[in-house]
Amino acid sequence: MTTPSRYSAEPVELALDSWLLEGTPAPGCPTCATLATKRDQAAEAGAWKAACNAARGIRNHHDGHRETP
Ligand SMILES: [Zn+2]
Repeated sequence: MTTPSRYSAEPVELALDSWLLEGTPAPGCPTCATLATKRDQAAEAGAWKAACNAARGIRNHHDGHRETP
C-alpha cells in the first residue's frame, strides 16, 4: 500500500468550497452586517479560516427562525 503524497504546499486559491463563504446577512441586523464585513475583509486578506467562521456566524445567526420585518 503506497500512499501518494501529492499534496504540495501550494497556496489555497478560491478552490475551497464557495459555500463556506456563503451567508446572507439578514436585513437590518447589525450582527449580520458586522459579520459580513468581517467575512469580506478576511477573504480579501486571504484569511479563509476567519472568513469561513464569519460566514458560518451569519448562517447560524438566524438559524431555525426568521425575523419578520
Ligand atoms: Zn443576524
